[in-house]
Amino acid sequence: MNVQTELDPEHIAISKSSGIKIDWRDGHHSDYTLAYLRDECPCATCTGAHGTQPQKTNYFKQELFPMYKPSIKMNSVEEVGQYAVRIHWNDGHSTGIYSFDHLRKICPCPVCRAKRETEPLA
Ligand SMILES: [Zn+2]
Ligand SMILES: [Zn+2]
Repeated sequence: MNVQTELDPEHIAISKSSGIKIDWRDGHHSDYTLAYLRDECPCATCTGAHGTQPQKTNYFKQELFPMYKPSIKMNSVEEVGQYAVRIHWNDGHSTGIYSFDHLRKICPCPVCRAKRETEPLA
């Protein structure tokens, strides 16, 4: 399968200490901080997909209060096929597979944020 859509990343820059930046084929640009990515982990444990209590982290919120310095970092990032990355976090968590589709949906830029508020994710 090698279907490219305009929502594919054109370029991905990964920094283990600061986060992921993606330039999309449609010209959109996304900049994810580590704390944000960790909180948006799409795995079943974090989202409660198996009917269990979601184990959401809130590193991003902590980041807003500098007295609680978050210490979240990526130990490594693996590419999963052509469509996703898997992040190994320094808190021991590594089950989250971040598809580009998911990443685009959680883009933290003001435009996408405003869009999500008017059309919430199902
Ligand atoms: Zn997770
Ligand atoms: Zn965006």
